[in-house]
Formats: sequence, C-alpha cells, structure tokens
Amino acid sequence: MPRLTVAITVDHDAISDSVRRGDSPVKFSHAEFGPRVGAKRILALLAARGVPTTWFVPGHTLTTFTDDTEVILAGGHELACHGWFHEDFAELSDEDAAAVLARSVEAVRAVTGAAPIGFRAPYWSLGPATLGLVEAAGFAYDSSLMANDYDLYRVRHGDRHSTADGTAWGREGSLVEVPVYWAMDDWPHFEPGPGRSGLAAPSSVLEIWTEELRYAHENAPGGLVMVTIHPECIGRGHRMAMLERFIDTAAALDGVAFERLDAVVSRWAGAHP
Ligand SMILES: [Zn+2]
Repeated sequence: MPRLTVAITVDHDAISDSVRRGDSPVKFSHAEFGPRVGAKRILALLAARGVPTTWFVPGHTLTTFTDDTEVILAGGHELACHGWFHEDFAELSDEDAAAVLARSVEAVRAVTGAAPIGFRAPYWSLGPATLGLVEAAGFAYDSSLMANDYDLYRVRHGDRHSTADGTAWGREGSLVEVPVYWAMDDWPHFEPGPGRSGLAAPSSVLEIWTEELRYAHENAPGGLVMVTIHPECIGRGHRMAMLERFIDTAAALDGVAFERLDAVVSRWAGAHP
C-alpha cells in the first residue's frame, strides 16, 4: 500500500449543464472551453507525467465530445458517472433519478464494455434517497460527501433526525464514500459565483493543496488526498501551471502513488469487508 495515494478527479461537465438550463451564449462559451481547450491540456499533462485519473463525465459530454472520451480511455483513465445533463439530484423524483443513473451506466458500458463503479453527484447535491438509488443501480462508490478527509467510509442509509426524538443512525450499505471538500476543488477558488469573487491566485490554491499533501503524508499513513478539477476552470494556462506544480510536488514525496478511484476503492473494500 502506498504511504499516500493522490487521486486527481476530473468533472468533465462541458456544456451539459448549459444545455439543460438553456444558458446564454457567453455561459455556453465558458463551458465549451472545457472540451475545446481544457480537457486536451489536462489529458496531455497526465500523459506526460504518466498519471492515471478518474473522470466523472455526464452522459451528454460522453456522447457529444467523443474525441475526449476516446483519449480518456486510451490514456488509461477511469470513466465514472456524473448525471446526464448535470442534473441536481436533490430536485429529481426517485423515478427520474433512477432513469438518469440507468442511462448513464449504459452510456459508459457502451464505450468500455463494462458498467462504471463510480458516481459523483453534480454540485455534490443529493436528495435523501439518492445514494440508496446509486447503490441499487450497482455502483460501488460515491464521491459527493464530506464526513472524512484522508480515509474512505461506508455510506449510511436512513438516518433520522428530529428535534423531538434526536438522532437515530441508519444502516451502512455496500456503497463506499470517497470524500470531497470545497477547498480541494478548483471551482470555488477560481470561478466567480454567488457570494464569492472567484479568480484566486493559483499560488494560494497551490498552498492549500500542497499543505494537505504534507499533512496527510506525515499524519495519515496509507491515506488519500483527492482533488477535484474542471477542464473549463483549471484549463486556463496560469492554473495548468499550478496543476503541474501540484503533481510534481506530490511525485517528489516519498511513497506517493497516483491512482484511479476504482483502484483505491477496491483496495479499501478488500480491507473493510
Ligand atoms: Zn460537475
């Protein structure tokens, strides 16, 4: 087992969200930068460094930007699910959520020959029943929750909380959680949004990400540091330079391995039956 595993995960949203929302031409063009420029740069960097990664790809992106899908697979990366049109699962009925999951699984199966094992909710937004549906759809892991940082855990279903009766914990199922966190995601740092300016200096984000590397390397042996990146966001040159530095800093630490999430999850699940 590596002393520290580093997982780079890429949410290749492209224009899926803009199609669903009917965005303006400028917003569409911001999203189009992902498949047109960003994903190509990221895939070239990963190939040059020999880094395997996991790509969470909405079905619309997978079937529209098939050139990216081919390079992702040829590069030895993992394809995982991220909705079809980047839906907010908290807003979907159970029937609609199950249908989106099933359609997404089939789209991956059509290009890889096997069902995907990973799911990440767009916006990390889940309804109370979503992860039960994800588990029922056959996924082995989710990556949308935050109850740990360097270690995986099993998702509980059916937690009940009320001010009258307090908390009754639900039961763990088979679904494994690979936890996320905002500070380890490029988007909140770099993209303008409600309540934030975005457009941070890459040096400030590099400081956060490399301090996570150093802390986990020292204090969480066998742990995982995962980052989430978006081609339309990190694909700009000054941020690509930061991603290069992050990869090189990680690679220089003793006992670090870059791994796909399916490999991380399968090792963890084997040790936690
Ligand atoms: Zn996304």
